[in-house]
Amino acid sequence: MNTGDALYESYKKLGISGEVLDFSKTILKELESRFAEIDEIAEYNQMKVLQAMQKNKVSEMHLEGSTGYGYTDPGRDTLEAVYADVFHTEDALVRAQIACGTHALTVALFGNLRPGDELLSISGKPYDTLEGVIGIRPERGSLAEYGITYRQVDLKEDGSFDFEGIRKAVTPKTKVVAIQRSKGYLPRPSLSVASIGEAIRFVKSIRKDLIVMVDNCYGEFVDITEPSDFGADMVVGSLIKNPGGGLAPLGGYIAGTKECVGNASYRLMTPGLGKEVGASLGVNRSFYQGLFLAPTVTASALKGALFAAAIYEKLGYRVVPDSKEERNDIIQAVEFGFPEGVIAFCKGIQAAAPVDSYVVPEPWAMPGYDSDVIMAAGAFISGASIELSADGPIKPPYAVYFQGGLTWYHAKLGILKSLQMLLDGGYTKFK
Ligand SMILES: *Cc1c(COP(=O)(O)O)cnc(C)c1O
Repeated sequence: MNTGDALYESYKKLGISGEVLDFSKTILKELESRFAEIDEIAEYNQMKVLQAMQKNKVSEMHLEGSTGYGYTDPGRDTLEAVYADVFHTEDALVRAQIACGTHALTVALFGNLRPGDELLSISGKPYDTLEGVIGIRPERGSLAEYGITYRQVDLKEDGSFDFEGIRKAVTPKTKVVAIQRSKGYLPRPSLSVASIGEAIRFVKSIRKDLIVMVDNCYGEFVDITEPSDFGADMVVGSLIKNPGGGLAPLGGYIAGTKECVGNASYRLMTPGLGKEVGASLGVNRSFYQGLFLAPTVTASALKGALFAAAIYEKLGYRVVPDSKEERNDIIQAVEFGFPEGVIAFCKGIQAAAPVDSYVVPEPWAMPGYDSDVIMAAGAFISGASIELSADGPIKPPYAVYFQGGLTWYHAKLGILKSLQMLLDGGYTKFK
C-alpha cells in the first residue's frame, strides 16, 4: 500500500471518512501559499531563538535548576537573558513563580503603578480576568483599592486605534498605557504588530515617559517582530501559550526595560530581593526546550486556525478572522448560529486529543459565565491553550473559539473530527 492509501486507512481508523479527507485536500490546495508564509515566519523565528541561545552560551548546566532561595541560578538568569534577546529588550523576568498570564500582567501593573497613578487601556475592554485586577469589576486587592484609577479608550468601529480619543484621555496622572494584542474572546480584530507600533509612537509623542505595556498573550512568534521591537516598555505573556512551546508546565514572562522589569521583580518577589531570588526547581530545561520549539509550535497552531477558517467558511459559516485576512494571534472563531454546532465542534476536538479522548464534553454552568459553556481540551499540561483546545458559550451567536495544536497534523485531525461530528449529526452538509 502506498502512503496515500495508508493515510486514508489511518484516518478511517480515527473515524474520518474519505469524503471529509477529500474535501480537506481541496481546501489545503487553496492554502498552500499561506502555509508557505507561515513556515517562513517560523523559520525566521527559529533562527532568532537559536541565535539568542548561542549568543548567551546556553550550556548543559543551565538546564538544571536551583532549590531554596535560588540565590544563584545561572540557568534561570541565562534564560532571562535569552528572552531579552529574543524580544530585543534590556531585561526579562521569566519565572515559574508567575502562575499564569493574568498573574504576569498583574505583576507588571502593580510593579509599575503607584497610588494616584492612572492606567489607560487604549485597546478597549481588557481580557476578562483583568477586570478584577484593575477593579472594573470590584475585587479584593484590585488596583482600584490601592488608589490607582483606570480609563479606557475603545477601538474604533473598524478595529483601529482612536488616536483623537487617546490624546484626550491622557492626563498628568496617566502612567501606564495598556494594549492587548489578541482579541481574546471579544468580537474585534486582533492587532497587528505594525499597528501596535504606530500606537506606541503616537503615545510616546504625547508624553515620552508614558510606560507602554502590551498584553502579548497568543501573539508571540505569529510575526517576525514583537511589540517590543516598536518601543513597548513591557511585553507580557503566559508560558502555557505560545512561548512555552507546549513543554513549559507553567510560568509567565515580562520582557522590557530594565526599570520596568526590575519594578515587576520587586512586586513578584520582594523590594530589595527582586530577581535575585526564586528557585527554578526543575523547570529550566522545559523552559529552554519549549522556547526552542515555540516558533514551529506556533506555526502549527496558526495552520490549524487557518485550516479551520477555510473549511467552515466554505461551508457557509462566518469565521473570524476569515481565510484571507492577516493573522495576528492563534485564535479562530467559528460562528455556527445554533448550539448543536458549538457542541459537535467541541466534541470533535476532544475526540482527537492524545489525552482524555474518550471523555465527552458537555455544556455546564461554569462560575463567572452568564450562560452554559462547553470546553474541549485533552492536554499534556492542564489548561494549556497552546495545545489543541476549543470552547464556546451556549448563547447567540453560538460561536466556538478554537486555538492551539502542538503539531499541525494533530490540529488537522481535530478540525476534521469536528467536521465529521457535524456531518454525522446532520447539522451541516457539503455545498
Ligand atoms: C490568556 C490570556 C490572558 C491571561 O490568561 P491566563 O489564563 O491567566 O493565562 C490575558 N490576556 C489575553 C489576551 C489572553 O489571551
